[in-house]
Amino acid sequence: MSGNLRKVKAFWNILTDNNKPVSVIGWWASWPAEKISGVLIADLFPFRDTLQQTCFPVTMQPHLEQISDNCSRELDTILARDFSIVPDEISLYNEGERGLTTVSDQSNIGLFRRDFKYDLEKIHYFNLLAAQQKSSQIALFLNSTDIASHLFYRCTAPAHENGNWSTDSELDSRFNRVIEQAYRYAETPLHSMLEQMSDLVHICIVSDHGFTFVPYTVTVSWNIVLSELGLLSYLPENNDQKFRSIDWDRTLAYYDPRKPRQYLAITMNPDFVATNQQHQYSNHDLHQREAIVLKNMASVRLADGRPLFSFIGKDNASGELLFEPRTEFLDNTATLLVGNKEFPASNLLQGPRLSGGHRKEGIILLWGAGFKQGHRLTTSTTYDVTPTLLWVNNLPLSHDFKGSVPVEAMKPNALSRRPPQLIESYGPRQLHEFQTAMSESVDDQIKTKLKALGYIN
Ligand SMILES: [Zn+2]
Repeated sequence: MSGNLRKVKAFWNILTDNNKPVSVIGWWASWPAEKISGVLIADLFPFRDTLQQTCFPVTMQPHLEQISDNCSRELDTILARDFSIVPDEISLYNEGERGLTTVSDQSNIGLFRRDFKYDLEKIHYFNLLAAQQKSSQIALFLNSTDIASHLFYRCTAPAHENGNWSTDSELDSRFNRVIEQAYRYAETPLHSMLEQMSDLVHICIVSDHGFTFVPYTVTVSWNIVLSELGLLSYLPENNDQKFRSIDWDRTLAYYDPRKPRQYLAITMNPDFVATNQQHQYSNHDLHQREAIVLKNMASVRLADGRPLFSFIGKDNASGELLFEPRTEFLDNTATLLVGNKEFPASNLLQGPRLSGGHRKEGIILLWGAGFKQGHRLTTSTTYDVTPTLLWVNNLPLSHDFKGSVPVEAMKPNALSRRPPQLIESYGPRQLHEFQTAMSESVDDQIKTKLKALGYIN
């Protein structure tokens, strides 16, 4: 998510507009870096080789890059020492880095290593800004607790909870402290803050969700069905290419697993939209091809004779044919009929997905002079964070905020001294003079992905 998609001011804009000091490190939607009253290190700072405006002021960049280089050097030592992740395994991952690895533990290690490195850098940037006292408010976003929980939750979950689906108990027991250690690192900025604590310090810790085990999420390799039906052909493997690639001359239908959505979408050609169907096929030809796909898909049946797929319709924008598979009948013991041939469902199933899952309940911890001690909040949401931050800064809230100040968390005398004020609105996001118009192509890709995942319409 880039800042170009933000319609309203971020908290760092509001604080800057009101001459309040603020520095921001790695926060969501903070690229392109805007001119603020402190230092802004955008969430996309790691991609500074290909993107512009990844930090403000730009004069900071050489110093930050030096820190980043230091982190690269110490990274593998830390991973080996504190996470039992040894360099050999990392190089295994790197060889297949284009997402080609099949052994999930190797790719888990690579993904975690990447995100943990960014967090390590951000923690060092935080320590630098805190030591320089460039601004008295710093917002820091860390991500590796999330990625650790996705990738390694199964290593900590007891066997009864993960349905005995654990694939490798040796690896599981070796990695069962990854999540805990990721949280320990995330806490280190807190230690340095607590050391220089004064009565005026406020700390707000937010995690917008927690984690739980996702039982039994089995994914189905639909392309195996398509190739069994003769609708999809692969080119023979060759040594240069670690992947099998699709033979489009002999392929009528393909499922793109990178585009998860509600229905099973079968595309007739990856360039369908780009190449313009008239150039690719005549309408007559296209209808014939679609008829073949529909007939073949209808021939896939469960053992009881009922079809596995029901046809939903055609997505006219993408040209994809949409099907709803009756996945509830698929398990390792099921047998499918593909044409006249029996086909064990276990050939299609990969699972379970080795991931923890988000739960709705998150964490909010408030600490400081204005807040009650030992009080347990009964209701609060992530929308309350900006209002709380503004209240601490003696700034009003606005009517268009979804959240509010968690009044029950405040000491009564602090509240009566400074009752929350309301204004109509802080207005829309504005382009600061520092910021030039940015390429929108990144945003279009992001929007497509968010739509596919169902986050936006
Ligand atoms: Zn997540």
